[in-house]
Amino acid sequence: MGLSAAVAAIALAGAAGVMVAPARAADAELPPVLDVHVHAGEFPGPGMTVCPNAAQFLASDPANGKEAPFGWSGEDCTPRLYPAAPGHYMEEVLAEMKRLNVTAVVYGNPADVKKWQAAAPERIIPGTAFHSVQTPDQAQQLQMLELAFTKDGFKVMGEIGLQYEGISPSDTRAEPYFALAEKLDIPVAIHMGTGGSGRANLGMSGFRGSMGNPLLLEDLLARHPKLRVQIMHAGYPMGENLLTLLQANSHVYVDIAGLIWSYPLKEVNSYIKRIVDGGFEDRIMFGTDQMMWPHLMAYSISIIQNADYLTPQQKRDILYNNAARFLRIKAPEGTSSANGVAKNIVAAK
Ligand SMILES: [Zn+2]
Repeated sequence: MGLSAAVAAIALAGAAGVMVAPARAADAELPPVLDVHVHAGEFPGPGMTVCPNAAQFLASDPANGKEAPFGWSGEDCTPRLYPAAPGHYMEEVLAEMKRLNVTAVVYGNPADVKKWQAAAPERIIPGTAFHSVQTPDQAQQLQMLELAFTKDGFKVMGEIGLQYEGISPSDTRAEPYFALAEKLDIPVAIHMGTGGSGRANLGMSGFRGSMGNPLLLEDLLARHPKLRVQIMHAGYPMGENLLTLLQANSHVYVDIAGLIWSYPLKEVNSYIKRIVDGGFEDRIMFGTDQMMWPHLMAYSISIIQNADYLTPQQKRDILYNNAARFLRIKAPEGTSSANGVAKNIVAAK
């Protein structure tokens, strides 16, 4: 039942003096959504409420006592997103996933990710990565990853945060990890593009916007022609470079996590539209970058659902089918495009 039909039904029942609860679609009837970017661990620090798609990043003054704590404008909004109750992050996000029929790639330390899997095995695709390329325990990290991917069923190497270290994805220090991923046929998910929120030079001195340039992947992809790459945050805002890379490398997909709710809405839509208009609608994967706010999922899905520049099929592809193809997971029965994905998977084997 659509919303207006439900309202009409309630109005009619009211007129007849009978209380009738509107029918509610069962969870199983909602079309499936794949969120390819969820964090197992809650973002550290005190939970903050957030106004998604704030319209501005404000200038700040470095003078003592005048520095702004973060870059986003302090505008108020509806809906404001609230963090989960302390200690209930996983439980509240999983409840939302069930309500909205979401399956998610969840990233984090193997032990944390396994807790999510134990709580909702059918909805969790596990992901994990190395912490840093600048630590001396590389052999240990490689061993941990090999075990995770070959014995523990982990499916994605991510989130890889080289940009926060100011390091290019093609830097040879990261080479052993990507070589392992290619050898094991595990896709890699690399943070590229967004970050900083106007305050990177203060809060994250290692972060370099330039290391989010999608073209920095070229040498890595030349060395590893079979590597499947997920550009997390779609290299925002370097759209022209992103299209150049996608044009030359058909194993590369993007996720629109983070950027979908943390930049001005008009800009978000024009960036996604630019990728679609460039001919790459089958490379765009839905994601949230969930780290704190359970209702972020419904909010972010609504941005795709309400995008008037996308056809119903393109919305389904972004919300589910593209990621199912990238991750080579079985599509649910009964949807025609999902069957197309399933056929592709069979054909690929
Ligand atoms: Zn990220």
